[in-house]
Amino acid sequence: MKDRFKAMLVTKDGTTQNVGEVELGRDDLMEGDVTVEVSHSTVNYKDGLVLTGRSPVVRKFPMIPGIDFAGTVETSKSAKFKPGDKVLLNGFGLSETHYGGYSELARVKSEWLVPLPAAFSAAEAMAIGTAGYTSMLCILALEDAGLSPEKGPVLVTGASGGVGSVAVAILARLGYRVIASTGRIEEEAYLKGLGAAEIIPRNELGGDPRPLSKERWAGVVDSVGSKTLANAIASTQYGGAVAACGLAQGLDLPASVAPFILRGVSLLGVESVYMEMPRRLRAWERLARDLDVKQLAAMTHTIGFRDVRQAADDILAGKVRGRTVVEIAR
Ligand code: NDP
Repeated sequence: MKDRFKAMLVTKDGTTQNVGEVELGRDDLMEGDVTVEVSHSTVNYKDGLVLTGRSPVVRKFPMIPGIDFAGTVETSKSAKFKPGDKVLLNGFGLSETHYGGYSELARVKSEWLVPLPAAFSAAEAMAIGTAGYTSMLCILALEDAGLSPEKGPVLVTGASGGVGSVAVAILARLGYRVIASTGRIEEEAYLKGLGAAEIIPRNELGGDPRPLSKERWAGVVDSVGSKTLANAIASTQYGGAVAACGLAQGLDLPASVAPFILRGVSLLGVESVYMEMPRRLRAWERLARDLDVKQLAAMTHTIGFRDVRQAADDILAGKVRGRTVVEIAR
């Protein structure tokens, strides 16, 4: 690898944030014991927040954005990794306090790296990305709470998005009857192709929530938050569980305690960034087992480095279907 490399950089001048492509040298990289040649990254919702500056995600400027990446170890001072090893990384403060994945080179701590599962190429691992890995964390949380296909259907909100699409595909493959909630009814064929049994319009769950509604599902994967999450909880059947990981509709939760105290419903918070390594590895093992790579291909499109800024606007506008992979060299 050459000594100078291309990266994207977010800078802040007073209250104005700028994003641009720069050339950096190795000395510009942050502390870490492993240097990775990054081949692929991705555009997640949080990347959209960073690149547009819409939420204060970046805590240190200047910052190389990109909350995840996959690539090949170039140099390593760690006994755990050697040059040539294929690796991936999700979270651990990338794009917040540590330089992230929109860069040809990344220097990171070895304890943040996950060996690339043999089932996936670097591009496939990033087609899954943080969104898909979080879908699996939601499913693990629901399983730990006792969910199984015999208990009843599972609702997936924001179904055409990244977390939603991967969740629909995995749950259907595991034998669940998946009810997909979407604001894009025109994506019915896409969602049914991923395995959804029933599609419901987003506005069915978007109104003012009642304390309790008719019991409709045994489990929920929610990446939307706000009224949608409150309505999803209110329609969860006795003993069911709801995994909440996102805020695409809003950060608020205008819910009542009725489903918890009258139906024993569990609300499970899911956080991916600082998830402990054993559960991370388990999530990636399960992704390798339970996600069909053909379904993954059907939900993925690939863009070049220079298309990332536009993709950030698109994902926040709810216009992106499924997952977006970034080819760093392109
Ligand atoms: P996407 O934009 O790909 O998916 C979000 C989906 O939510 C959209 O595609 C859309 O689906 C739906 N949506 C968008 N706006 C609204 C709205 N106003 N009301 C209702 N539904 C809406 O994003 P990701 O899948 O990458 O991320 C989803 C969420 O999960 C984000 O909030 C993200 O921050 C969070 N997240 C959290 C993680 C964690 O560690 N807790 C990790 C990863 C993601 P449709 O058109 O089908 O309705």
